[in-house]
Amino acid sequence: MVAASHNGTGEAPACQPGACRFHVSGYYFGPRPGMDCERPLRWTCDYCRASVARTCSGRRESVCRPCSARYRRAVRAVAVSGMVAERSATGFLYLLTVTAPGERAHRLPGGQLCPCTPPGGVDLAEWNASHSGRWNHLRTNLRRDHEGLQFMRGVEVQTRGALHDHAMIWSPTPLDLVAVRRRAMAAGFGHSVDLAPCAPGSRKAAYYVSKYVTKATDARERVPWAADVVDYATGEVTRERVPGRYRTWSCSKGWGLRMTDVRATARAYAMKKAEQNRQLELDGALVVLGAALGPLLPVADAPT
Ligand SMILES: [Zn+2]
Ligand SMILES: [Zn+2]
Ligand SMILES: [Zn+2]
Repeated sequence: MVAASHNGTGEAPACQPGACRFHVSGYYFGPRPGMDCERPLRWTCDYCRASVARTCSGRRESVCRPCSARYRRAVRAVAVSGMVAERSATGFLYLLTVTAPGERAHRLPGGQLCPCTPPGGVDLAEWNASHSGRWNHLRTNLRRDHEGLQFMRGVEVQTRGALHDHAMIWSPTPLDLVAVRRRAMAAGFGHSVDLAPCAPGSRKAAYYVSKYVTKATDARERVPWAADVVDYATGEVTRERVPGRYRTWSCSKGWGLRMTDVRATARAYAMKKAEQNRQLELDGALVVLGAALGPLLPVADAPT
């Protein structure tokens, strides 16, 4: 945030500090000095017409690199907060990966058809659109098997456009791959399931998951997605291909820090930094002023 600049038309009196009611009124083209954002937004007060520049808070790297990096760091902080070493003293930490079914029917080592994929394969657009419901189903069953289980899940977009989940899991009771695979397939995921134990306090899984989260925010156009589209002229509803509408990550309530906690901490830190900078600038200005005025200042009352 930078200082408000009053429009100076004199039409409306300036608001009391903190009384402005801002709404987005446009973009600034290009970065603003002192602001780490590639396309800051202009917010204007409804009452006094004062305007301020604020970061765009974009999550997509293709839209704004610094803002998407900030978002990635915030997601990473949420991810890391659940993987703290103390947690392994009271339970088990895992990185679980579940995938969409294959594109073709395939056989198990015993020769019978694998139940994860129907004979004609899955329609990825339809499968992706049902993906969050499938995850909810899986998550509910895992929490039924392991009471108190907590997770943070990030979405990765595979090359074929299928959504893919990486979930960090903390559970008071150990998870078993065979049981988890059974649950995953019952929820409509493919048979390819990975369950890797995580070292206590390791940030690797958290970094891994948050890395894919920002990539997934930039991949909506290439994720096949089917949705009902209403033609408002005729009232006709058709199933059409639209850009992906998935959430790039989610976590359970007891995972660790929430995004609001991370944001509040970041804001407090930024304000402290800004205050320090202001103080530094002030000190700097006084030094320069002192040097400039030094020869002119009377020295009579200097201690002897
Ligand atoms: Zn105002
Ligand atoms: Zn930005
Ligand atoms: Zn299979």
